[in-house]
Amino acid sequence: MLELTDVTVAFDGAVAVDGVDLAVADGDVLAVLGPSGCGKSTLLRAVAGLEPAVGTIAWDGVDLAGTPTHRRGFALMFQDGQLFDHLTVARNVGYALRLRGADRRTVRREVDDLLELVGLGGYAERLPRTLSGGERQRVALARSLAARPRLLLLDEPLSALDASLRVRLAADLRRILTEAGTTALFVTHDQSEAFAVADRIAVMRGGRVVQEGPAAELWRAPVDAPAARSLGYSVVLDGDAATLVARAASVPLEPGGQLAVRSSGIRALPADGADGGGAANGAGGVVGVGGGSLPGTVRSVRLGPDGLRLDVDVDGAGRLAALADAATEPAPGDRVRLHVDAGACAALPPRGAGRWT
Ligand code: ADP
Ligand code: MG
Repeated sequence: MLELTDVTVAFDGAVAVDGVDLAVADGDVLAVLGPSGCGKSTLLRAVAGLEPAVGTIAWDGVDLAGTPTHRRGFALMFQDGQLFDHLTVARNVGYALRLRGADRRTVRREVDDLLELVGLGGYAERLPRTLSGGERQRVALARSLAARPRLLLLDEPLSALDASLRVRLAADLRRILTEAGTTALFVTHDQSEAFAVADRIAVMRGGRVVQEGPAAELWRAPVDAPAARSLGYSVVLDGDAATLVARAASVPLEPGGQLAVRSSGIRALPADGADGGGAANGAGGVVGVGGGSLPGTVRSVRLGPDGLRLDVDVDGAGRLAALADAATEPAPGDRVRLHVDAGACAALPPRGAGRWT
C-alpha cells in the first residue's frame, strides 16, 4: 500500500503541499478533492517522484526517497491523455507491453482485453485523431493499465470532457478500476466526480488535507463550512437561519452550530396548501415553525436543469434557494412553504470549532 507521512513540497519557499498524511490500501481508489491551486497535482507528482518532497512516501513500508520515477512501478494519467498521434489505438495501448519485450501474440491478446475493458472493442486500428475526447481518455486509461502499475495516479482525467460525458465516464472509470483491481490515487476539483469514482475522499485546501474518510462519512459530517462547500453543499447557514432550517428538516443541531444544505433538497410548495395558514406568523423568528416547513416569499424564479429554481426570502431565516414544480406556477411575491429534506443537510460544529485539525 501507499503511505504518505508528513509530506511537504515547497517551490522557492512557497509551500504547495503542507504536511500531508495519507494512505491508500491495495485495491482502493482514493480521490483527493480540492479547488484549483490547492496542491493536488504537486502531491501527485511528488508521489510519482517528479517533485522533490520532504517527509516519507512509502510503498509496502519501503521508503521511495531513493527510487527514481521509472522504478516506482506507478503510472500517471493526465487531463489530456497524451496519446501518440501517429500510432493506432492498439499500438498506443500496447506500448508498455512491447517495451517490456512481450511477444506479438501476447501483446495482441492483452490489448484486446484492455480495449474490451474500457469499452472500445473494435477500435484497435483507429488513429487517435479519429476519436472523441471521451474515447481518447479511454485509450489513455487502457494504455496506463497495460503497464500493470502497482499504483495508478490520475490527474483530473475527465476534466477536459463535457459535463454529461464526464458523468458517464466517471462511472465507467470506477467499474474499470474495480474490475482491474487497480490501486489508484485520483485528484479532481469536481465533487461529483470524486463521489462517482472513489470509495474514500481526502478534502484538500491550501496544501493540507483537512478531512479524509469514506465518501459517505464525509458527506454526512463535513468538518467545516469550506469542506462542506467542496463536497457539494450549496450553502452553509448559521445563526437563526441554521436553527430554523435544521428544525424544519428535523436535523439535530448543537447550540451555535452551522447547517450545510444542498438546494436540491429544498422544495417550495404553494403556501395555500393543506399545511398553509400560519405563513404570515412565522416572521417572529424561531416560533411558528414547529418542524416540517418554512414559510417565505418568492423573490425570483428561473428555469434550471432540474426544474424551477426559486430565490425565497424565508421568514426569519433570510434568502434560500429552492426547487419548485413548474406546475405550481410560482411567481415573485407569492407566499410559499419550503420543505427541507434531512438527507440534504449536514450539521456542522459552530464556526471555528472544527472536529478535525
Ligand atoms: P492543483 O493541481 O490543485 O490545481 P498545483 O499542485 O498545480 O495545484 O499547484 C499548487 C501551488 O503550487 C500553486 O500555487 C502553484 O502555483 C504552485 N506550483 C505548482 N507547480 C509549481 C512550480 N513548478 N513552480 C512554482 N510553483 C508551482
Ligand atoms: Mg492540477
